[in-house]
Amino acid sequence: MSKLIDRFGRHIDYLRLSLTDRCDLRCSYCMPKGFRDFEEPEHWLTFDELERLIGIFARIGVGRVRITGGEPLLRRNLPELAGRLSALPGLRDLSLSTNATQLDRHADALKQAGISRINVSLDSLKAERFAKICGRDSYSKVMSGLLAAKSAGFAPIKINMVAMKGENDDEIDNMVEFCHEHGFILRLIEAMPMGDTGRNTQYLDLQPIADRLKHKYGLIEHSTPLGAGPARYLGSADGQFNVGFITPISQHFCATCNRVRLSVDGTLYMCLGQEERYEFRPLLRGGARDAEIEAAIRDAIELKPERHEFREQPLKLVRFMSMTGG
Ligand code: SF4
Repeated sequence: MSKLIDRFGRHIDYLRLSLTDRCDLRCSYCMPKGFRDFEEPEHWLTFDELERLIGIFARIGVGRVRITGGEPLLRRNLPELAGRLSALPGLRDLSLSTNATQLDRHADALKQAGISRINVSLDSLKAERFAKICGRDSYSKVMSGLLAAKSAGFAPIKINMVAMKGENDDEIDNMVEFCHEHGFILRLIEAMPMGDTGRNTQYLDLQPIADRLKHKYGLIEHSTPLGAGPARYLGSADGQFNVGFITPISQHFCATCNRVRLSVDGTLYMCLGQEERYEFRPLLRGGARDAEIEAAIRDAIELKPERHEFREQPLKLVRFMSMTGG
């Protein structure tokens, strides 16, 4: 079975799967406060449709799947779906990105269902500032979710912090030490102009931050990535202490892009920063055979753009992060 290779010679083996566009938080750089225009539940792909479609992707080499949202733990019976996906032939890595507000109730079941790794969004270690950035007073729920994930045995647990100038950049060192103390891997992320919320976020160039942390903690560049995604890592010589940097603006990583995104309604987005897409729900509900769906996936990958244009066209994207799950 031939691999999925796009027009730029990139091997696409990683799918980010958004199970809902809804979330219980309203992070300032993502979903606008008061937003109500969510996808209709009857348009959500069902677990049967997801199992079938992801099964076809896995058979043609897309062996890494990350479950995202909105907030994926708001989708009922997620452990059941995770169990069905992790049993699919060819699916070798199933992971989850969550805001952890619901994690303390689901951590054990998700681990038993076959989810191996978890990324948790955490932008501040101050409860008040957390509430200001995330629009909800959920700091303690996130902390108990993180501890539940740790005791459930997830490893690694990665912390995603969107670094914002004048908002939380004064906490970067504390977050580095918090993660080191708990054995979490911190990833600092540059804000992206996704929708007005993304555009109105105080962008912070992470290159000088990386240089400063490198000198402060005596870190070295990692030669091998610590995951399927675009993060560039600095680490201690003994490998015990790592910090990741996701820098789509200051140093993009599109040349080695390996991923596409499936939204809750079955729309495949070829690039986070572009609008090229392909609708799979009509095929799944219109009686298409597996071979036709596989052919459609190959056609869709032909649409994949070379890169984002966040710098050149910052006003281009209307949709915000939670619609495709980052
Ligand atoms: S912006 Fe698009 S091309 Fe670049 S890494 Fe992200 S998904 Fe890939």
